[in-house]
Amino acid sequence: MQTKFLLGENQIPTHWYNVIPDLPEPLSPVIHPATGKPASPDDLVRIFPPQLIEQEVSTQRWIQIPEPVREIYRLWRPAPLFRAHRLEKALGTPAHIYYKYEGVSPAGSHKPNTAVPQAYYNKLAGTKRLATETGAGQWGSSIALAAQMFGLACTVYMVKVSYGQKPYRRSMMQLWGAEVIPSPSDRTAAGRGILAADPESPGSLGVAISEAVEDAVTHEDTRYALGSVLNHVCLHQTVIGLEAKEQLKLAGEYPDVVIGCHGGGSNFAGIGFPFLADKAAGKDVRILAIEPSSCPTLTKGAYTFDYGDTAKMAPIMRMYTLGHDFMPPGIHAGGLRYHGASPLVSQLVHAGLVEARAVGQLACFEAAVQFARAEGIIPAPESSHAIRGAVEEALRAKEEGRERVILFNLSGHGHVDMTSYDQFLSGKLDDFEYPEEKVRASLAHLPKVEL
Ligand SMILES: *Cc1c(COP(=O)(O)O)cnc(C)c1O
Repeated sequence: MQTKFLLGENQIPTHWYNVIPDLPEPLSPVIHPATGKPASPDDLVRIFPPQLIEQEVSTQRWIQIPEPVREIYRLWRPAPLFRAHRLEKALGTPAHIYYKYEGVSPAGSHKPNTAVPQAYYNKLAGTKRLATETGAGQWGSSIALAAQMFGLACTVYMVKVSYGQKPYRRSMMQLWGAEVIPSPSDRTAAGRGILAADPESPGSLGVAISEAVEDAVTHEDTRYALGSVLNHVCLHQTVIGLEAKEQLKLAGEYPDVVIGCHGGGSNFAGIGFPFLADKAAGKDVRILAIEPSSCPTLTKGAYTFDYGDTAKMAPIMRMYTLGHDFMPPGIHAGGLRYHGASPLVSQLVHAGLVEARAVGQLACFEAAVQFARAEGIIPAPESSHAIRGAVEEALRAKEEGRERVILFNLSGHGHVDMTSYDQFLSGKLDDFEYPEEKVRASLAHLPKVEL
């Protein structure tokens, strides 16, 4: 009964898999937020380094991972694949459940998989400082780690409520050398505008993105870094699925269903896209994204052009969206509270190649606790959505008496999220209804786009 399927360091993938050439339709253009017209690569050079802009639109199926990036990946990659024997037993299911564990990275999630190459390409392009936003701090800590490794300065705008509530991730960022600023701040016009209207504003991810983008475009030596959503971020995360495929070969299995939680779409893309390549080649595999029912972008959003941020400074993209001024309820899976979704994942959902399902917060915490008691690892609240999805699939396999193979991505550990578990275990957590009225109001404010 083998439990861990491990690869050697020489089996870290040499190339990322780019899904763009395998898409059913060409990519929709990215739209400039000020003009409403397609943005040119020149519009993006003040925001991102050239190599990342190239990757954003590349039609090359395989993109080489630079050696300095693979060298840092060696600190935690290849990440282990586990067979969840004990969870299977607890569920009494004939299904074989496998999980890829990304919590082994120094920051405790999958996010360093893209933070490291982003810092590397910025270093190559002569960037001196990175500006970014963070909600609960998973992205901020990952980019702080990566920036430090390549000798870049790093400024993180951290959503103000989280700055107060999540002191440990703030400490991690500071330990790795980043400057952490509670957002909204008086550093930027976007922040000052929000503070003038409401000095007590708790902030939001959308506002923090606006501050970080403004910081980058107003400083010559500074570029912006985004932890999810964009094509190049999804690309970098494919190391997850590429490794998992090799590891499943060691187990002599191929998945019937591949599952990831979905916030902006990057860890889901990471586990799912390499299997999508097989699906495009005719293989029978389901690929399933699980999102919170209180922020149901893929299952209840509109597939249309919308701003990436609240202040309408970030580019407009075609994606599933709940509207850029939609403010999701304060669920504990902070990393899944985003109004939009990756344009790549969105197109694949729209085309019916990827399935999406929404699940409630309490059901996810129940699954997370069951998982932790069986398998030991305490999952991040975000990852608990993938666990819930896997448990539902495993129970269905039990009902049908089928020996299904289920693979899910355990995107991170929950060691810095124990207050959430405290609240769940003491019965203080609630489910949130789908805020239908707020979504409808927000979807009334979509941008006008000229193609
Ligand atoms: C940020 C985060 C997510 C959500 O982001 P995606 O881009 O959708 O992957 C999921 N899990 C963990 C552990 C995270 O830190």
